[in-house]
Amino acid sequence: MLEAPVVIAISLIYIGLLFAVAWWGDKRADQKRSLIANPTIYALSMAVYCTTWTFYGSVGRAAVSGIGFLPVYLGPTLVMALCWFLLLKMIRIVKANRITSIADFISSRYGKSHVLGGLVTVIAVLGIIPYIALQLKAVSSSVSLLLSYPEIVMPNRSATMSVAADISFYIALILAAFTIVFGTRHLDATERHEGMVAAIALESSVKLVAFLAVGAYVTYGMYDGFGDIFEHINASPELQRLATAIPSGGGYTGWFSLIVLSAMALLFLPRQFQVAVVENVNEAHLKRAAWLFPLYLLLINVFVLPIALGGLLHFAGQGVDADTFVLTLPMSQRQECLTLLVFIGGLSAATGMVIVETIALSTMACNDLVMPLLIRHKRVALDESRDLSRLLLGIRRGAIVVILLLGYLYFRLAGEAYALVAIGLISFSAVAQFAPAMIGGMYWRGGTRDGALAGLSAGFLVWAYTLLLPSFAKSGWLPDDFLTQGLFGIELLRPQQLFGLTGFDEIAHCLFWSFLANIGAYVGFSLLRPPTAAEATQATVFVDALKDAGSVGPALWRGRAQVSDLQELVARFLGPARAQALFTAYARRRGVARGVMPEADAQLVQFAESLLAGAIGSASARVMVASVAKEEPLSIDEVMHILDEASQLRTYSRELERKSRELTAATLDLQEANERLQELDRVKDDIMSSVTHELRTPLTSIRAFSELLRDDPRMHLADRERFLGLIVSEAERLTRLINQTLDLAKIESGRADWNGCELNLKEVIEQSVAATSQLFREKEAHVELDLPDNLPLILADRDRLIQVMLNLLSNAVKFLAQGRGRVKVMLRLLTDGLEVSVADNGPGIRPEDQQLIFEKFRQVGDTMTAKPSGTGLGLPISRRIVEHFGGKLWVESVPGEGATFRFTLPFAPIQEQALAQVAAA
Ligand code: ADP
Repeated sequence: MLEAPVVIAISLIYIGLLFAVAWWGDKRADQKRSLIANPTIYALSMAVYCTTWTFYGSVGRAAVSGIGFLPVYLGPTLVMALCWFLLLKMIRIVKANRITSIADFISSRYGKSHVLGGLVTVIAVLGIIPYIALQLKAVSSSVSLLLSYPEIVMPNRSATMSVAADISFYIALILAAFTIVFGTRHLDATERHEGMVAAIALESSVKLVAFLAVGAYVTYGMYDGFGDIFEHINASPELQRLATAIPSGGGYTGWFSLIVLSAMALLFLPRQFQVAVVENVNEAHLKRAAWLFPLYLLLINVFVLPIALGGLLHFAGQGVDADTFVLTLPMSQRQECLTLLVFIGGLSAATGMVIVETIALSTMACNDLVMPLLIRHKRVALDESRDLSRLLLGIRRGAIVVILLLGYLYFRLAGEAYALVAIGLISFSAVAQFAPAMIGGMYWRGGTRDGALAGLSAGFLVWAYTLLLPSFAKSGWLPDDFLTQGLFGIELLRPQQLFGLTGFDEIAHCLFWSFLANIGAYVGFSLLRPPTAAEATQATVFVDALKDAGSVGPALWRGRAQVSDLQELVARFLGPARAQALFTAYARRRGVARGVMPEADAQLVQFAESLLAGAIGSASARVMVASVAKEEPLSIDEVMHILDEASQLRTYSRELERKSRELTAATLDLQEANERLQELDRVKDDIMSSVTHELRTPLTSIRAFSELLRDDPRMHLADRERFLGLIVSEAERLTRLINQTLDLAKIESGRADWNGCELNLKEVIEQSVAATSQLFREKEAHVELDLPDNLPLILADRDRLIQVMLNLLSNAVKFLAQGRGRVKVMLRLLTDGLEVSVADNGPGIRPEDQQLIFEKFRQVGDTMTAKPSGTGLGLPISRRIVEHFGGKLWVESVPGEGATFRFTLPFAPIQEQALAQVAAA
């Protein structure tokens, strides 16, 4: 079943599916129903990290070094878990400046330098093309293997290899077509490639499913689970070494350098920068990716060791390459469908990587290599009559084809050479050279173009010398004398034991020396001179990206430009229709009618430049804008001054914000105070009206009785005396009312005099009861006292307390029935004070009135008989007195069964201390 036509057909169907998904994704994007607004798709697209090097290679590495395949996945996991803020900052910078590639990023940061962009592009192309070649080789090898079915013949010995290589040539061409169709739809590279990203996410899912399928099949189908495999392994001492050898191959330094390297690869590989930063539509997606992507890596690694060990057991001594186990294990079991699935998984891993890497590299090559040359030498760009958008698209498409063909060529030339097999880590080491310029650029204002150029060059040269050239030598393309004897026979210059450094594996060795050179040169050359105006500007834009640096750019442009010139310029690169639309939208956003503004301001110039940057890179965009705008160059002093002002402005606006927050708080406070005042005012009015009201009643009676006496001189003596008695008692009540009102007002306003001293509460109570004994006698009521001796003292005003007691006692007696009344006065010890209760067997107080009676002038219930003598102020005053001394006054009552008034008072402080001493003793 696995003949050439079938394999070709299946491959074509699969790639056709990719086209369909990408087309669908783009269509949805055009309808504004973006697929990649989905964080899962973003996370999956990041899994383009896993190439065939993972899909086939992990098992190969595990078969040699046990779990030595792991660090390459630990690095990215650590980055996503711990250093996602780096990605976040990159995303902000890229969005704010319409950056399209890692070359553009570095060029833009160091003053929009063409040279720097070019250098980064060269390093990336040199480092990545062999990596693309490796993918094509993997596809070829897998095709060749399939074609040897049902035999298993290793590709390098197989007659089918040339057919397979041809097939992969056509696959490369189809991928070029795919990349052209979905990667260059728009010129403006900041337009997201939604269809492509959707296709990549699909590929990530396919390769994961395929790998899990074969893993599960080997582990549970061919063997009896993990345990079974390990049992078999234990029987063979040689394999046992594999399963237990922890960090083999380079030891711990090897592991460490691989983790560092792969962490940087995740950030700086052009394809990772493309999917994670350039194609990101929403920063929030990072959150999902932060766990989903590491989870993906975990899943795709779960079965690596079982497959490797299973393969070693199964093919012991048959010369089957461990890199092919994923495919050869199902083949050996005649599992044709699974074999095909695995093949498709490998194909996904290869094509996904190739597509994204090609887009990224072609953007760089176009914007950072070809455009600058065009602008400088041909002066094509300055020929105003030309619409350059077609030319540009042509260049980019050409670049895609050239890059893919170069990849293919390298694969055909390198064949089985070491230089190709080892390219994964060699590539990683190349892009790791971007790290100092990238990270330094985002966090250090002092980094300059010279520093970045020197660092990148030094790192790159050391990388080439210690890793690339040796790999050529090992492939037999260079004489290997310089490997063993050193350049010019100088021992110290042996590329993989540079300056006598031994004990590292070649990757750790390269990483050490290249970083030393790179970082040293970057920092050293940066410190040689202060940043120029352009560098300082860009440094601020990058370093402050997470603050609001967007405002700095326009502040730093001074000159004159016509709006029409700018629009024409943009139109030449993006097409007239799109330029028109963008400018109109911009005008609307800023609330300016089109045509009102013939002279462009700094902000508009900035806008035009950023539009161009999206299409041709920031360095070229700057040159182009300079060609139509008369810019007055700023000196570094002026720039620093403006930046200073900008940062002062930021501080100032933060200060303002703080002030305004304080102001709001103060306003709120004022509002509250005002409300309180109004409330108090209302209370005062209430009191005034009730006081006058209360005063009127006795006054009216007094006046009525006096008039009666005056008008009827012949009134009976008995009546006369009765009326006079009433007049006196009403006058007394009036006096009481006035006194109590004044008293309460004094207490409430805090003007009352308090003579606090330590008191024996028992004495106070006895004194009060004695003072009211006459009242009780009149009512023939029984008073019972329960007052223990030797209770602690309390702190209060004696006269005031007597006032409280008199009020409670007289209230009680007032409501007692004649002859049947009983009042019980009790004193009790509490933990923190004393409690006094006055209980009567009068009518009691209804629950709904139990709070009311403590309000001023409130007399409730059936108290008509007693009312004239009361004022309704006794309880409010008593409560305030008790509360003044830190106690509480309340009533408990069941209507019909009497009322019990209770109040508490805390111990006097000294007494408290004394008690504490007693307790301690
Ligand atoms: P007054 O001067 O009218 O006694 P108070 O503030 O002392 O004013 O009492 C308010 C109201 O609480 C009284 O008018 C009465 O309705 C009720 N009250 C007070 N003590 C008792 C009690 N022991 N039994 C029943 N009602 C009481």
